[in-house]
Amino acid sequence: MPYRAPRGTVDILPEEQAYWRYIEQKVIHITQLYGYERIDNPVFEDAGLFVRSVGEGTDIVQKEMYTFTDRSGSPLTLRPEGTASVCRAYLEHGMDNLPQPVKLYYIAPIFRYERPQAGRYRQHHQFGYEAIGDDDPALDAEVIDMAWRFCHALGLGQLTLQLNSIGCRQCRPAYLAALKDYYAANGGNLCADCTTRLQRNPLRLLDCKQATCQPVADAAPRSLDHLCSPCAEHFGNLRRYLELLGLPLVLNHRLVRGLDYYTRTVFEVQPAVEGAQSTLGGGGRYDDLIAELGGRPTPAIGFATGIERLSLNLKRQKVAVPALPKPGVFIVYADEKSREEAVKLAAALRQAGVSAVQAFGVRSLKSQLRQANTLAIRYTVIIGEAELKTGTVVLRDMSTAEQKTVPISQLVSLLHAVNL
Ligand code: AMP
Repeated sequence: MPYRAPRGTVDILPEEQAYWRYIEQKVIHITQLYGYERIDNPVFEDAGLFVRSVGEGTDIVQKEMYTFTDRSGSPLTLRPEGTASVCRAYLEHGMDNLPQPVKLYYIAPIFRYERPQAGRYRQHHQFGYEAIGDDDPALDAEVIDMAWRFCHALGLGQLTLQLNSIGCRQCRPAYLAALKDYYAANGGNLCADCTTRLQRNPLRLLDCKQATCQPVADAAPRSLDHLCSPCAEHFGNLRRYLELLGLPLVLNHRLVRGLDYYTRTVFEVQPAVEGAQSTLGGGGRYDDLIAELGGRPTPAIGFATGIERLSLNLKRQKVAVPALPKPGVFIVYADEKSREEAVKLAAALRQAGVSAVQAFGVRSLKSQLRQANTLAIRYTVIIGEAELKTGTVVLRDMSTAEQKTVPISQLVSLLHAVNL
């Protein structure tokens, strides 16, 4: 076979779609409960938008973006995350003039050139939401609460909610200096990535997964101990609200997230049993991003989670999702003449809202019935010579093999009566 799906991408086959539909319906429900409206942004944007917002020194910008020039020579990037596009749209469409915060959500494909593994792809999909235009810690609490409730509404359990504050422009430089000093004094045998991070993106040192780097990262200075008083007050209030909401948060001083735009609150939902690779979703505040993109200073906070990752966890935790509806009726015909009737009947049933399919080509009755069985369709409607003459059809319940002859004029009401 000359072509396969590109490395790190997957086809979402029909048997997988029940999980997707289930997750999408939970998304629609929770976003409505918390007052979010949907936004769909383009799949590609100016490359500069992501470099500017995600940050020059991040893994995403350094190693993972799919950037290309189009025929006019403009550099474009396939969206490697959702927040930057939402903020760009917020500014472009003057949403800063609406009552704040503006609450938007998306379900969108995301592209990152990563090393593919279970639950990590080069194209995946994220459900994300952003609340833009308010710095009240009660909003942080609401955003975190929504993430937590969403995961539980899906039926997922054994989760932890991890929280940290990484400060702001005022207090972070001093913290980063303390972190660098510490690593310079204690980071004797850092991994190659951490050696680069120490120069380029010291906050990410804390996020390293290499075994050798764990003791030094565990004992590193904590951002919570270096917050300026407005950040400390914000964090204190946030914790109070989270307690009011009864959320079981775990403080994690090594939680820093992989994008530069975060300020103050950062949080993640993780499965209790696995490592950080399997993070279900994460988010945080990005109070400087809108100004960075040319707007007035506008605080904001958001969260994103991967649909594939959710689906994987639903399967691991054996959460049963509702099956997608199948056609209710398979129409079987005996010969050429009754086939004409089958074509008409299929159209009439669909007009009446009954989902109906039929076999095509010249097929024996037996083979058509076998097909209906394989497709697990509940009823077959059989049209033969005798039925044609009498204006009837045979209605067969495939689960019980019971069948009866019914006037064709009564078929729709009989099918409606069994909820088809
Ligand atoms: P991030 O933007 O890196 O915080 O990612 C948010 C969420 O998207 C993660 O917690 C995962 O659930 C999911 N995710 C991120 N990267 C990938 C990937 N390469 N493949 C599948 N899911 C991903």
